[in-house]
Amino acid sequence: MRTVIYKIGRIKVVIVISIIAVLLAVGLNYIFQSFQEVTYSYSSLIRAAVIPLIVAPILSWYLVGLFVRVIELEQKMTEWALFDQLTGLLNRRAFLHRAEQEYYLAKRQETTFGVVVLDLDHFKDINDQYGHKAGDSILKDFGELVLKQIRQSDISGRIGGEEFAFILPNTNLVQSKVFAEKLLAVVSDRVVTIDEQAIKYTASIGITVSFPENDFKINNLIHHADQALYEAKSAGRNCYKVAESLL
Ligand code: GH3
Ligand code: MG
Ligand code: MG
Repeated sequence: MRTVIYKIGRIKVVIVISIIAVLLAVGLNYIFQSFQEVTYSYSSLIRAAVIPLIVAPILSWYLVGLFVRVIELEQKMTEWALFDQLTGLLNRRAFLHRAEQEYYLAKRQETTFGVVVLDLDHFKDINDQYGHKAGDSILKDFGELVLKQIRQSDISGRIGGEEFAFILPNTNLVQSKVFAEKLLAVVSDRVVTIDEQAIKYTASIGITVSFPENDFKINNLIHHADQALYEAKSAGRNCYKVAESLL
């Protein structure tokens, strides 16, 4: 009912309510006249229609407006609860929830999936050099880039300040490496212009893969990918490393 009203739109709903109100008023007036056995009068029917014709549109315009606003606020709250406002990616809690769902699905279907953790390089230096607002713009830019680059079926989230994670359903190690290489390439090609200053940034990546026969839960898998990420940082950044358990 709620979604139907929302889809139809405020004006149409108000018109429908007003027509129903007028028809009801005229109909009831007609029935009362028949019971009272008074002479049927067109002028009294028209008088009966006048009040709902004035009141119904005003009242329903206000009430339907409130109703639509409540639905819009509910949608916004759901969005705020799931998505990170700056990057548009899933927030940490929503990401872990989706990742866990994927974990159980992959287990049931006996498929492999990739777990990729990414951290933007020297982000503190970027903030220090260009300001926190520039740092925010880069995070926003990265979010847009991710949404453009990844498959609809991939799950992406901002799991920390400048740390992101991806779940790649039905993806083996070789394919996960290709994903990481592509992502690193597009990130390092990126130029963000802020106050006429061209800023470039890079990222480091850690990869692991979940096999159906292994019993590593999502938190474990992210931990393994995180360790690989630290190795990528130690190796000079702007590169990816694979978790030790897979080597
Ligand atoms: P590394 O290459 O080792 O990852 O170095 P780093 O400087 O990126 O890492 P470090 O952990 O030292 O610093 C992370 C920085 O990211 C510090 C923090 O202020 C910044 N940061 C985290 N969240 C945000 C944010 O939402 N906006 C901005 N502008 N900066 C953020
Ligand atoms: Mg960093
Ligand atoms: Mg970090």
